[in-house]
Amino acid sequence: MTIETILPIPDIFSAKRILCIQPHYDDNDIAAAGILTQLAKNGAEIFYLTATDDLMGVVDTSLSDADAAATLKRDQVAAGKIVGVKEQFWCGYPDAGEYNYFDLRRDFLKYIRMLKPDLVFAPDAWLTYEGHQDHIQTGLAAAEAVMFAGLTKIASSDPAVDAAYEEHDILGIALYFTREPNYIADISATWEEKIGAVRCYEAQFDAPGMDRLIMGLDAKSQQVSRGQSFARGEPITVLHTSALHVGK
Ligand SMILES: [Zn+2]
Repeated sequence: MTIETILPIPDIFSAKRILCIQPHYDDNDIAAAGILTQLAKNGAEIFYLTATDDLMGVVDTSLSDADAAATLKRDQVAAGKIVGVKEQFWCGYPDAGEYNYFDLRRDFLKYIRMLKPDLVFAPDAWLTYEGHQDHIQTGLAAAEAVMFAGLTKIASSDPAVDAAYEEHDILGIALYFTREPNYIADISATWEEKIGAVRCYEAQFDAPGMDRLIMGLDAKSQQVSRGQSFARGEPITVLHTSALHVGK
C-alpha cells in the first residue's frame, strides 16, 4: 500500500466545477489558460476569483483608479471569453498592499462554500523563490480554505453563506507556478487560446513587454514538455486535499 493509494492524485478531468483563485487578474491565464481552456471544452464550469485590485501594475499611470479598474476588468472579461470562464469574482484587496491574511481566507472560504467547486486552482505558496507577498498569501489562503471548507466553525466572511452551506467533496487543489509539478498538462490543442487570452491583458503590458511574456511562455511550454509525447505543456502540482496537511 502506497500513500498514493490512500491519497490518490485527483484526476482533474473528473472535475465539474473549478474555482481558480489568483492574486492578480492575469495569473490564472499566464500559468494555466491552456489546461483551463481544455477543461472548459470538456464541459467543466470554470470560475475565477481575483484576490487583489491589481492597480499597481497598470502601465498607463495617468489613469484614475476607476478608469484603471475598468480597463483591467475589460481585459479580464475578454480573456475569460476565450478560455470559457463562466463567471468572475473579485475580492479587491490592495495590490502589493497591506491587508489581513485571515480576511483573505474568510473571503476564499465564502466563495468555496458558495460555488462548491470540486477542484481549486491556486498559485503554489511554497514556490522556492516567490518574492511577491500577494502570491504567497493567496496560495496559502486558498490551500487553507480548501482544507477548512467543511469546518463551518471556521467562519467565512458571509454568515448567510455559512448558514446555507452543506458540506461537499473537493477532489483537491491544483497548484500553478509550482516548483515540483507532478503533472504536465498537454496544451498543444489549446495553445492558441492561451496566447489569445494572455494577449488580452493590455493594461499591464506594453507591446515589448507582451512580446517578452509570449516568448517566455513559448519557451517554457516547450521546455516542460521535454520527454513527453506532446510539444507544449503547463506544469501543475495536483494534490489530494489531505495531502495539503500530511504531505504527498
Ligand atoms: Zn500575480
